[in-house]
Amino acid sequence: MKFKKSLSILLLGAMVVACSTNPFTGKQTLALVPNSQILPMAFQQYNQFLSENKVVKGTADANMVKNVGQKIAAAAERYLTANGYAGYLTDYRWEYNLVDSKDVNAWCMPGGKIVVYTGILPITKDEAGLAAVMGHEVAHALANHGQQRMSAGQLQQLGAVGVGIATANSENAQIFNTAYGLGSNLGVMLPFSRSHETEADHIGLILMAIAGYEPAVSAELWERMQAQENGNAPPEILSTHPSSATRIQNIRAWAPEAKAEARKFGVTTFKR
Ligand SMILES: [Zn+2]
Repeated sequence: MKFKKSLSILLLGAMVVACSTNPFTGKQTLALVPNSQILPMAFQQYNQFLSENKVVKGTADANMVKNVGQKIAAAAERYLTANGYAGYLTDYRWEYNLVDSKDVNAWCMPGGKIVVYTGILPITKDEAGLAAVMGHEVAHALANHGQQRMSAGQLQQLGAVGVGIATANSENAQIFNTAYGLGSNLGVMLPFSRSHETEADHIGLILMAIAGYEPAVSAELWERMQAQENGNAPPEILSTHPSSATRIQNIRAWAPEAKAEARKFGVTTFKR
């Protein structure tokens, strides 16, 4: 268990806790609610989000989002299968949609439900930049970071709430949605911690490299993001993905390792 002792005791005393090892991080993660219950809710909320927003279809940008998304998803499947976790993503229903919005943002719900906002495209600039963002967002979903960013108190409440009741009471539903990165009000989600950002950067680099993109492009992307932050309109994505000066340095240092990992899958050229 990677969790603080007091929290473990609190949780074990308060509820039945299921733990499983995450194949990307090697860490034990809490599974308070099984995927069989979370994912149908995620899928429903994703569809609701799409119905309430303007989905861009058939344009070159929309096709690029689908194309890059499919490559990232395939990279995740290949990586998991090679590491003895074939079938880990069986319940995933990958979907990649471009939504018309000036928000500089992108996210991935549990189950592989991805949204990219048109507002982020000037900063991602090209396919490789988009792959860096999508790899990073998918990494958060694969590492179950959503449910780990709850406070001890919130986790305890969540355990008491359970899925059935979560849908009946708006306050409980909000706790549940925050825990699993769901809900239509995605802009006000809790920020990821520095350690989760680092983890998502690392996993994301491997995914984009296996997908055939130059991982060093990710460093350039976050540099562009920070340049925008120094202006008067900080990108929304930075409010849920707090950046740091060491991020770009880390990414540059990890890029060769990500390419070495990709070569194990026969990937030898990296698009930039
Ligand atoms: Zn992040």
